[in-house]
Amino acid sequence: MAGGSKDNRSSRKEEAAAEAPSATPHWIAPLASSGNGPLRATKIVATLGPASDDAATLGRMVAAGVDVVRLNFSHGTADDHRRRAELARAAAREAGRTVAVMADLQGPKIRVGKFENGRVTLVNGAPFILDANCALGNEERVGLDYRDLPRDLSPGDTLLLNDGLIVLDVVRVVDSEIHTVVKIGGELSNNKGINKQGGGLSAPALTAKDMDDIRTAVSIGADYIAVSFPKSATDMEMARQLAVVAGTAHGNVKPKMIAKIERAEAIPALAEILRASDGIMVARGDLAVEVGNAAVPALQKRMIKMAREANRVVITATQMMESMIQAPVPTRAEVSDVANAVLDGTDAVMLSAESAAGRYPVETVETMAAICLEAEKSQHIELDADFLNQTFSRIDQTIAMGALFTAYHLGAKAIVALTESGATALWMSRHSSGVPIFAMTPNQQTERRMALYRNVTPIDAELRDDRDHALRDALSTLVARGFAARGDRVVLTCGEPMGQPGGSNTLKIVRIEE
Ligand code: PGA
Ligand code: MN
Repeated sequence: MAGGSKDNRSSRKEEAAAEAPSATPHWIAPLASSGNGPLRATKIVATLGPASDDAATLGRMVAAGVDVVRLNFSHGTADDHRRRAELARAAAREAGRTVAVMADLQGPKIRVGKFENGRVTLVNGAPFILDANCALGNEERVGLDYRDLPRDLSPGDTLLLNDGLIVLDVVRVVDSEIHTVVKIGGELSNNKGINKQGGGLSAPALTAKDMDDIRTAVSIGADYIAVSFPKSATDMEMARQLAVVAGTAHGNVKPKMIAKIERAEAIPALAEILRASDGIMVARGDLAVEVGNAAVPALQKRMIKMAREANRVVITATQMMESMIQAPVPTRAEVSDVANAVLDGTDAVMLSAESAAGRYPVETVETMAAICLEAEKSQHIELDADFLNQTFSRIDQTIAMGALFTAYHLGAKAIVALTESGATALWMSRHSSGVPIFAMTPNQQTERRMALYRNVTPIDAELRDDRDHALRDALSTLVARGFAARGDRVVLTCGEPMGQPGGSNTLKIVRIEE
């Protein structure tokens, strides 16, 4: 935690102690109109860009339900990202909502160079050469930004350009030149991406630009860093190491690390990547190109399940509301796609160009929020049996599981976790109990991080050292914000003494009194 907020916290604590406990603690933020609508469990990640750059639009997007803003480091300058993060934080304050910032690194996306005329049309059956030594492209050849690509290819390989819209068959590799025949042609414009079908490109996951960008992300105070194209746990460990080192210069911020699963090689390595990460993104854009479109829906289900079982978060991404880039309503298929990701158990659904460059960023967030809510209503909730047969060595984890079990069986109105690190809220949110989790924390980094956790509503709260006061304050907060009322049963967890990360050791069941 940053040094500044600690002072603030203790002085606010003292004030609280000096006052007689009242029904509404003085530190409760005023009720935000948007914070009191129906509770949506699934979170929304929205990519920022030119379409969401003015404060009014971003303010409306946040009020409509954005939980995490994504800064796409494939585009824009460090200053653009810093300005967007600041705008998002201001919008969150204004709306009385908690919004996390996720920096998404570009990674070793391999691209063609530029063309003399900006674009060419490739004709089926025609020869076409990719050549790292070509400066400006034409109908015959184009440059490459990754010099080692020829080394990774042999005759018979298939290259997919522009998200798979253009397909090239490799016939020969001659030094720096990759000779191909156009299998599926079309228009190819400057800097479009290249993937190899089936994976197998040796480019390292962290480029020099990514290393710089990690430092920028940390200096901006990003809560999450998403690493593009990791192949192994080592890629994630390296990225985390760089972030931790950069963080020491910035008040010890420690961003959580998200692995974007978008390479064929990442699939067999998923278990080890999950161990080395805090979460994953089902990055369906590049993944579909590498493994084939048809394989992606089943992989999405498997990844979501594995992430939850490993106590990691998971974001489902790409083309979720694609048609809303241009249109004020989504297609039926997009509505089903978002709803199905919710039913699969994803923590969050993500908007890319829809919110960054589309014509209807606010409407897209509103529509997505409505689809999530409706899908959640239809979901049959059954506490999964898997953890009933598990044993836990950690006291805090056992308390979290006990709270979940208790709340489910009692039909409690709410679970309240008083938490320093957010760990109890994360554990509880890995299983569906049908009971909303309210995670109250004095730690602002924890609060923002929890904005991504499914079924968790983070609440900024100064927790008094005295347990009874803290629990009473927590219940008053719940009532004041309209999340519970007199007569409701609530399950609470906390640590005694309070304020120790990993210290949850207490479970209490209360009925909110008349
Ligand atoms: P990108 O990643 O949008 O940064 O390419 C997501 C994806 O590939 O699906
Ligand atoms: Mn990608």
